[in-house]
Amino acid sequence: MLRLDRVSKFYSAGGVVSSGFSKVSLNFDRGEFVAITGESGSGKSTLLNVISGLDSFEEGEMYVEGSPTSGFSGRDMEDYRKKYIGNIFQTFNLINSYTVYQNVEMVLLLAGCDRNEIKDKVRDIIKKVGLSEYEKTKASKLSGGQKQRVAIARALARETPIIVADEPTGNLDSKSAADVIKLLHDVSEDKLVIIVTHNYDQVEPYVTRKITMHDGRVVEDRRIGERKGQVKAENGAASEIKAPTAPGSLSFGNTLRLAARNTFNLPAKFVLLLFVFIFLCGGTFMAYSSFKNLGATAAGSGYTDYFTEARPDRIVVTKTDRSLFTDEDYEKLAALENVKSVEKRDLLMDTEIVFNSDEIGYYITAAPVRAEGLEDLLTEGRMPEADDEAIFLFAEDDPYISDSMMDLALDQVSQTFDNNSGTGYSDMKIVGYGYLTEEMEEYYDDTTTWIDGVAGFTDAKLEDFETAKAASSSSVEIDIGDKIITPENYGYFNVMAGPSMEKGEVLVPEEMAYMGGDGYEKASELTLNAVNPYETKSADLKITKTYNQQNVASVVGVQDYEAVAGNVYISSEDYEKLFGNVGYQTSVIAEDARCAEELKTEIEDAGFDAFYIYEAYVSSNASMTAIINTFRAVILAGVLAVLFFVSYFIIKLIFKSRNSYFSIARMLGATKENCAALLRWDMFVVFNIAYFILAALVAGAGSEAYPAPSILISLAGYIDPWDYVILYAVLCILAVLLAARYSRQMFKKTAMNAHREEV
Ligand code: ADP
Ligand code: MG
Repeated sequence: MLRLDRVSKFYSAGGVVSSGFSKVSLNFDRGEFVAITGESGSGKSTLLNVISGLDSFEEGEMYVEGSPTSGFSGRDMEDYRKKYIGNIFQTFNLINSYTVYQNVEMVLLLAGCDRNEIKDKVRDIIKKVGLSEYEKTKASKLSGGQKQRVAIARALARETPIIVADEPTGNLDSKSAADVIKLLHDVSEDKLVIIVTHNYDQVEPYVTRKITMHDGRVVEDRRIGERKGQVKAENGAASEIKAPTAPGSLSFGNTLRLAARNTFNLPAKFVLLLFVFIFLCGGTFMAYSSFKNLGATAAGSGYTDYFTEARPDRIVVTKTDRSLFTDEDYEKLAALENVKSVEKRDLLMDTEIVFNSDEIGYYITAAPVRAEGLEDLLTEGRMPEADDEAIFLFAEDDPYISDSMMDLALDQVSQTFDNNSGTGYSDMKIVGYGYLTEEMEEYYDDTTTWIDGVAGFTDAKLEDFETAKAASSSSVEIDIGDKIITPENYGYFNVMAGPSMEKGEVLVPEEMAYMGGDGYEKASELTLNAVNPYETKSADLKITKTYNQQNVASVVGVQDYEAVAGNVYISSEDYEKLFGNVGYQTSVIAEDARCAEELKTEIEDAGFDAFYIYEAYVSSNASMTAIINTFRAVILAGVLAVLFFVSYFIIKLIFKSRNSYFSIARMLGATKENCAALLRWDMFVVFNIAYFILAALVAGAGSEAYPAPSILISLAGYIDPWDYVILYAVLCILAVLLAARYSRQMFKKTAMNAHREEV
């Protein structure tokens, strides 16, 4: 049934070709019990591996039932092995983490049998080899002799006509060895059994033929007798056996079952793998959320002159007729869904106050707020009592601002100005300080402008700031005579609330008055227009005084004419009227940046005009956004690739133990596809567990139902329901690719090479 015709096997390693065996011609029949002996290195194992189809041969021909095998594809070889060969090894090659039953069952599952139909058969075979009471024992717990019995049971299970055993007793004591040989003989009556052995005496009582090898050649081939059991075979059918019915292959259900078994039967491996996948999932979640976050950064990296604070939860609201907001309007806005707060003094949001003292050497930026109501937060000093006094609140753990620094600053005169418009230097004193509450810290963390803390002022001072802000965002025209003078066509000038000016009066530079006159006389009146984004406000003013280089000191009170730089002075009342705020505009802060768009629609539906600054930045920055978006896609891909390979290498380490599993599986008749599928589903099970653990953590953190670490909360902030689906799909693909890459690496080697590396 098996015939070798001058078969040779060469090994080439590093360019050196060596011979495993050469020109071996042998003919085997069913019922033979063949012993192959010979000294170490004579080629016995190599011959056996070629016969079992674990190894290829380079020369000659091997015939199976008359058909040549040299043209066999890998697939044909696998079929041949499945149909004909049962292997028994010196090192047993059991799956140690499987029970005796599972070890035997596995070959049948790989052959496509139904799990329920083979139960009795598996038990019978286990009984045959005398291990019934160990059915549920893990292979790793058995003695050597018992292990080899399991290996025999496994070789019998598929009822192949040929059993090859490479030094099956090499690792056993002589008593167990004798038992194993006897068992092998007893259970294989009508099969072809080929045993490689060092110890011929041990097998002598049973053999029908002795082959001796030396230096890769057969030097002796002697028939000794016939097996008793063979009579039956001789009498029964022809000595040429029929091939067993073509074996099927591992079913999908059994693939899942085995994969799940593999996932869980080594708890340590499972936990490690779970960590790797949680790492992979977590990394992917983070890469993805920073992908979205970067999108937000791209959107927020723009700049408008008017709104410096483009926080993503802020919506600027005006009335459609540009009239003043009433209390009723504010209430209406506050009652909308998704509203966190209504900022009536929203110009202050775009104001950033700087305290600057050369004496102590600090430069502190602060968001201006109402001092009233913050008294409980003060830890030192007192509340402001005058308009030139302020309190300052900062984060308790701020690395740049300390209590001792603030102690020094207390009551020092410092220069104060608005950093955004650069207008309005004034002297202030910080009279008290304290710490920000957690909510305040959180709120100001979201701002796009960078501040050190919050400064509390009197209401009057806040109004000054607002007016200055409004003024800085208004442009000014002077309508004088038949001319329109602007800072652009005049050279620079600035309208200021001047010293001791009466309402309705204006103090201008002499040359400006002449420009508006008829050439010989100065103009006596002018109209000041303040143009802000909402309206133009005008004041008709009388030119009661002018100043020039000579009288600037007496009229304006400033020595240096150049320093005045053409300023136009009006009364505080007129200044307030032209530039003062106002209440034409308010800002609504959304409960959450993610519902700002929605809120904008709500506000519009309520009959207001709404402006989403943040969104405006996106469109004004389209090209910048496009660049950043391209970048972040590249970065995301890069991060995923890194995660993938890091995971791959860790998995490769963890799966060291799996390598021997798969090489054993292949020797038991598993195809490449079977192994790949087992690996894939194994990983898939772990991946799913990891994914759902992580997703639950993140989603849970999102719902804020439990105190989650801040990293999870910030993750959750950027991941919405659809993203979970996208991430699941992406990670599924990653998991499958990981498995595919791993099995590709593994199957670069032939079954035997893979196996050799493991043992
Ligand atoms: P035996 O089983 O009789 O001890 P082997 O069949 O293992 O001998 O080896 C036969 C010859 O083939 C030896 O010379 C050995 O060095 C060589 N050989 C076996 N396996 C390999 C291999 N994987 N690569 C190179 N040479 C090998
Ligand atoms: Mg050997």
